[in-house]
Amino acid sequence: MKSRPTFLEVNKAHFPVTVLGPGRRIGLWVQGCSIGCKGCISMDTWRADPRKKVDIDDLLSWCRQVGASGFDGVTISGGEPFDQAQALTVLLRGLREWRRVDKLDFDILCYSGYPLKTLHNKHAAILALLDAVISEPFIESQEPVAVWRGSSNQLLLPLSNLGHQRFDEFVSKPLADTDKKMQVAVEHGKIWMIGIPARGDMEKVEALCSSRGLSLQDVSWRR
Ligand code: SF4
Repeated sequence: MKSRPTFLEVNKAHFPVTVLGPGRRIGLWVQGCSIGCKGCISMDTWRADPRKKVDIDDLLSWCRQVGASGFDGVTISGGEPFDQAQALTVLLRGLREWRRVDKLDFDILCYSGYPLKTLHNKHAAILALLDAVISEPFIESQEPVAVWRGSSNQLLLPLSNLGHQRFDEFVSKPLADTDKKMQVAVEHGKIWMIGIPARGDMEKVEALCSSRGLSLQDVSWRR
């Protein structure tokens, strides 16, 4: 019998995240992406890295700890979550079990750079564990027109009853200026920018920092 994968390669975990889905959310970014979209701002997540393996039980414990004060949802991004399909399945089952046992009502949203058709064909069992998915590769030339998406081809698909309750109103909601928000966190000497930047925003941030004497090194949007 195949043993259950117990580790997920994780790039980052943060709470609260308020710019990738409705409400206050737990944000989990996986390590490793085999898609390689041109213009990706998260190139630091591309390379699979066994040193970033995290025990899924520990990750769930951390979620319980930070979520104890109340939260609305979990957003899983990356990297490409579906590249670690078995570990993702274990994580999602753990989240759903926690939700069921503790009678919580948080939703689970997952990003993927794979087309919806591929996800339906290869990962239907994982889609069944999610409340909503945002699919399709990032296309730099297609400016986003809807909230929480990086390019106009990306689709938000509610997948469960809870997903419909939480996400239906956002499926085609046009992107407003007030939706263009980024969060900034400083941890372990690194600056983390969370959210979907508009085209050119990262260069503007870099230029602004430079004008104030701060030189950014090892940025994730350039190799
Ligand atoms: S945008 Fe997402 S799917 Fe595309 S290369 Fe970057 S991490 Fe991978």
